[in-house]
Amino acid sequence: MSCMFDSLKSKLKNVLNKSSSKLDSESIFEDREEKSAADEIKIEEPEEKTVPSEPEIEDKPVSRKEQLRAGKQKKPAPKETGPSAGKMVGDSGKKIKEDPLDDLLDELEVVLLESDVAYPVVQDIILGVRDNLVNKKYGRQYTLEQVVETAVRESVRNVLKVNEFDFDKWVDGQERPTVMMFVGINGTGKTTTIAKIAKRLKDNEKSVVIAACDTFRAGAIEQLSIHAERVGVKIVKQGQDADPSAVAFDAIEHARSKGKDIVLLDTAGRMQTNNNLIAEMKKIARISKPSLKIFVGDALAGNDAIEQAKVFDAAIGIDAIVLTKIDTDAKGGAALSIAHTIGKPIAFVSDGQGYEDLQVFDSEWMLERLFEGYEE
Ligand code: GDP
Repeated sequence: MSCMFDSLKSKLKNVLNKSSSKLDSESIFEDREEKSAADEIKIEEPEEKTVPSEPEIEDKPVSRKEQLRAGKQKKPAPKETGPSAGKMVGDSGKKIKEDPLDDLLDELEVVLLESDVAYPVVQDIILGVRDNLVNKKYGRQYTLEQVVETAVRESVRNVLKVNEFDFDKWVDGQERPTVMMFVGINGTGKTTTIAKIAKRLKDNEKSVVIAACDTFRAGAIEQLSIHAERVGVKIVKQGQDADPSAVAFDAIEHARSKGKDIVLLDTAGRMQTNNNLIAEMKKIARISKPSLKIFVGDALAGNDAIEQAKVFDAAIGIDAIVLTKIDTDAKGGAALSIAHTIGKPIAFVSDGQGYEDLQVFDSEWMLERLFEGYEE
């Protein structure tokens, strides 16, 4: 059975291992201008154009290399947040030539695309790696693999850092009752996720009410009731085909009258493109005014999960994401790209069927899993 990010991890390792053959001694040279050059290596970007005094009409970049260069000029250099990058780069050292580096970046691009990383995110990662490698000088005590791996790690970190969300802190800062609405298509793990979040909140001393607003399927109400009982929280429900907004309203009223902290709204998820469903989501949101709208997506769905999130976001405006089944996702593409693509943070990832299998997602969590076994 495939495990969390296995395929992406081994493919990345493969590319990084190739860095010493791709970037052989020919590709690396010492900066002769530096006195201390004898002790270091450098990664060189050959003759970058100086800005001419007269503005030049530039041709549209054609080759990938030129596109990367053009992109690079538009973007500010990513911050070196990791301690290792800071230590590696200095005033003197080794430089890497650009052409063999492009070859390596091509391979990295293919690996990321094969792993279902969304195209714009792949481009950002590649640009970041390039920025981290070209025109910098690396202490000669570091191996090429270390230098390239750090560049990849930093670039992935920068892509993930854009959107982070501290759920527990957010909850503590909210008025009561705090209403959270969960949306997503059937089968992604929405009901299980609600139960896990209910448990997490309960463990953090919050009183929780779950509202069974998926009244489309009797089975959904029943399943949620079982979860609520197991986790030990109150559930507010009506019969099949009841108005989902009325159920949400009842649950919020219950929470108000009993002084409960949190209301979690389960919702239906029959095909995200179904207009009735979207209208129903809008109505629930309008009536219950949730402070947090969470999209639950299946990591295995890869780019499809991103497309689903876009549909729900356009309809009701989602605030955060929970990615499920990450324990069986070998590719890692959705985890790497959904937040960046949608512009909303991943609050949690779900990594199993147990109620404890819910992890806070942040860039360090992902990096630890992707680069497990590497030295930092
Ligand atoms: P819903 O239709 O979206 O409410 O989905 P459910 O919560 O009923 O989950 C569908 C199936 O996926 C169930 O068998 C869950 O146990 C399973 N499931 C949910 N989350 C995870 C997860 O993180 N990992 C794994 N392996 N299975 C999960």
